[in-house]
Amino acid sequence: MEVYLSENAFVGLLVSTIEVYRRECFGILLGHNTPERKVVEFVVPYQTAKRKFREVRINWDRSQRVGEAVRDVSRWECVGDYHSHPMYGTKRATTRLSKEDLKHFKEGDVSVVAAINDISKPRRWSYVAHESLSGTINGYSLRISAYYKMGNEILRVPIVCPYAIGFLEKNAKPKS
Ligand SMILES: [Zn+2]
Repeated sequence: MEVYLSENAFVGLLVSTIEVYRRECFGILLGHNTPERKVVEFVVPYQTAKRKFREVRINWDRSQRVGEAVRDVSRWECVGDYHSHPMYGTKRATTRLSKEDLKHFKEGDVSVVAAINDISKPRRWSYVAHESLSGTINGYSLRISAYYKMGNEILRVPIVCPYAIGFLEKNAKPKS
């Protein structure tokens, strides 16, 4: 299993994560499923997510309602969800799943986690540890990881995003 992010999905994820920083964002991934790949065409942030520093409480009824509506009116399906892990005080954020994340994980779904931290130096986007996606934008450092639940196991799976690779924010000047 791997997760493919389109240009739209990548940009949407960035905007969503940065917009609410230092709070958490939450939303769904829309696209289509193949046996080996979840293709994410775009992301839809949830307006109703009650955003807090350490966790996001989601109204799961609403979440299901949105998923069904998407299936009914479009050729897309909901292939999973995403949320961010913002830097908290001086504690740097990671993409590791929290206890709360593990509890709500649905079988067969993917969950994308974007960790966001302050950083001073621009860096090109690249794959790290062969799986995650990492880079900077406007003074923030982001690392994006994907997880997939198979049976009782939650596995980290590779993210594929050709659009992001090599991407360097416009006007980025190396810090002296
Ligand atoms: Zn989380």
